[in-house]
Amino acid sequence: MTLTRSSDGRSVAGRAALITGAGSGIGRATALLLAAEGARVAAADCKLEAVESVAAEITAAGGEALACQLDVCDDSQVCSVVEQTVEAYGALDILVNCAGIALPAAFGDEEAWERTLDVNLKGSMRTIRAALPRLRASDAGRVVNIASTDAQVATPMMSAYTVSKHGVVGLTRALAVELADSGVTVNAVMPGPINTGMTAAIGEDDRRRFARRRVALRRYGEPVEVAQAILNLVLPASSYTQGACLRVDGGMLTVA
Ligand code: NAP
Repeated sequence: MTLTRSSDGRSVAGRAALITGAGSGIGRATALLLAAEGARVAAADCKLEAVESVAAEITAAGGEALACQLDVCDDSQVCSVVEQTVEAYGALDILVNCAGIALPAAFGDEEAWERTLDVNLKGSMRTIRAALPRLRASDAGRVVNIASTDAQVATPMMSAYTVSKHGVVGLTRALAVELADSGVTVNAVMPGPINTGMTAAIGEDDRRRFARRRVALRRYGEPVEVAQAILNLVLPASSYTQGACLRVDGGMLTVA
């Protein structure tokens, strides 16, 4: 037997990727990591300055990036960002849905429910719908949705968030089956507690206490650790991973 090292399909170099929520946290880390691996990245977020700085960081390092303002609740903006990506790169191979919000709210808070489902669940649905014709045209179309460990358990005062993330897992599985003959894979990651804008308001002591008690690795994760899992799922070589919902939680849900 001869051992050969093949990089076939084990790189995203030259692939065109659209990442929502790329102005902060997991989306930002994913944009930077994919660009460092040679992907051409459209970084989209509701905060234009934030994605402009991500794109500037990528281009300063010799990569290719585009900054796009995007509210995932607005259909026309979603379609426009897909078109901007295709105009710039001639293709769209990878979609990573990182835009999300977490509003602590009582079950009866109708406004918080509407907003949370609109951004976290329908936002992912909108971007996938808009990107699908382009992803189908790719020889390795990839979608990664960001769910949460709250897709498997529930946090008090976070019912809307919990339902939205259960929905993201449902969306992932439904599309994994529905798009099975298209060559597009649809998977999700389920992060545990990660140091991002979303968790920034939790005090350092509370974070440390929570991690010591609940997380096998006894610490919060870093955004790049989630981005690494996303990178694996979007590789062309990951062609048989379909409908997977991968926990990236430092073993939080594994602790008895
Ligand atoms: P983050 O740092 O707050 O990043 C989320 C980004 O999405 C922010 O830039 C946010 O902008 C943007 N965004 C919000 N609403 C948007 C909209 N309508 N259109 C476009 N962009 C929008 O939080 P993160 O932790 O990286 O969150 C990324 C994903 O991971 C989310 O889906 C979140 O639920 C999930 N997640 C996070 C954790 C965690 O512990 N951090 C755990 C499990 C799952 P604003 O800052 O202006 O809102």
